[in-house]
Amino acid sequence: MTDLHRLSIRELSEGLANAQFSSRELTEHYLKRIAKIDAQVKSYVTVTPELALAEADAADTLRKAGGANVLTGVPIAHKDIFCTQGIKTTAGSKILDNFISPYDATVVAKGKAAGLVTLGKVNMDEFAMGSTSENSYYGATANPWNLNHVPGGSSGGSAAAVAADLAPFATGTDTGGSIRQPASFCGLTGLKPTYGRVSRFGMIAYASSLDQGGPMARSAEDCAYLMNVMAGHDAKDSTSMNQVVDNYVANLNDTSVKGLRIGIPKQYFNVSGLAEDVKARVEESLKKLEDMGATLVEIDLNMTESYVPTYYLIAPAEASSNLQRFDGVRYGYRCENPVDLMDLYKRSRSEGFGAEVQRRILIGTYALSAGYYDAYYVKAQKVRRLIQQDFLKAFESVDVIAAPSAPTTAYKIGADLTPVEMYLGDIYTLAVNLAGLPAINAPVGFDQNNLPVGLQLIGNYWSESQLLSVVHQYQQATDWHTQRAAIAEENA
Ligand code: GLN
Repeated sequence: MTDLHRLSIRELSEGLANAQFSSRELTEHYLKRIAKIDAQVKSYVTVTPELALAEADAADTLRKAGGANVLTGVPIAHKDIFCTQGIKTTAGSKILDNFISPYDATVVAKGKAAGLVTLGKVNMDEFAMGSTSENSYYGATANPWNLNHVPGGSSGGSAAAVAADLAPFATGTDTGGSIRQPASFCGLTGLKPTYGRVSRFGMIAYASSLDQGGPMARSAEDCAYLMNVMAGHDAKDSTSMNQVVDNYVANLNDTSVKGLRIGIPKQYFNVSGLAEDVKARVEESLKKLEDMGATLVEIDLNMTESYVPTYYLIAPAEASSNLQRFDGVRYGYRCENPVDLMDLYKRSRSEGFGAEVQRRILIGTYALSAGYYDAYYVKAQKVRRLIQQDFLKAFESVDVIAAPSAPTTAYKIGADLTPVEMYLGDIYTLAVNLAGLPAINAPVGFDQNNLPVGLQLIGNYWSESQLLSVVHQYQQATDWHTQRAAIAEENA
């Protein structure tokens, strides 16, 4: 069988169950594709063929013994921010270039328990700071739709691997858009769950009050399978929520688009910098949802202009605190021949962290310093509350809120935007994290350069099933999610 990489997760699950192919055959197939194509895409930081084949054989043995689950033997790629016991975990940073975690992140452990086979670890912006994956110490990843463009970030390796058919699905994390924006740039479906839905244990921290792991895949259905693995309370993460988890696959047809009230924030479609093609494709997708029975309701989200400044105070503030642990002493990169302790700290950190990470540590430290704390950090927290209230008010009259995932399609590699220009590209994703809400990206067409455009649907707390279900209905009625990137087509 040559087209195993074209199968959906449900088809993979059925094919394995019916012994049409083994996990070893499937895993070897993916490893061969990675060896053949990934030199061009550069989505993987670490490929783990031996481990993958051992896990595949174990999955096949388990299946023969009658102990297989739905996903036993299905391959996955993990964002290199999730700790993996015995496999290097870099978070895209030089400072962790020699780091091998002594334990698995909960998300990784749950994947193993479900029988998933680890193909390897995929690239990302250093410590998840960025929107292009160019901030990785391991080099830029290419967008499978056009190799001269970025895949987005920070989960750009996850997005590129799936879009190039180098993994059937992947884990990602989203602190300010890092699942939704690369999913948008690469024509994928990606879900950022409600804060607290997925354990953060073993997920290297960027901004702890915003970070959340989630699935990236070709369709809402594929994402639902991975959500069933990832979601759930974890005693090792004190902010993970102890409440019943849905069966996201079983619920895929539970929400009807008919009668669904979709809020259209006035402010979102007047943002300067919103590309015409993006606006047009998003509006067409909303028209389609309307044809399917949804009602479009204009709403106000008055805090829109505050999203970027608020996030870019809170996230760096938390980052500056979280990244203090990388001091060259306990683990990670250490500078050569330190003359004393201060020199060791200073040089290990300035040599180990890239420019964007250092910029954020400086901004965050400033915002938290005595004298500026009230004016910046505390103020930002107050605005954060107002942003959340804006959404809660909107959800009194609508079921979901629609927006682009990003104002543009994928940038060219090396476009060299200023930091502020880059930050403004996050306008549509940041508020969701500040409010802790779930949101999903779905592909809805292409711009004039054949680069994918994404629609974002934002839901109320714990409405992941509803979001997946709405996108699933949309994907039953359209075929944007089945289109394949150029590099995947060439290597079909
Ligand atoms: N692009 C945003 C940033 O640079 C979001 C990143 C993320 O979600 N990890 O912070």
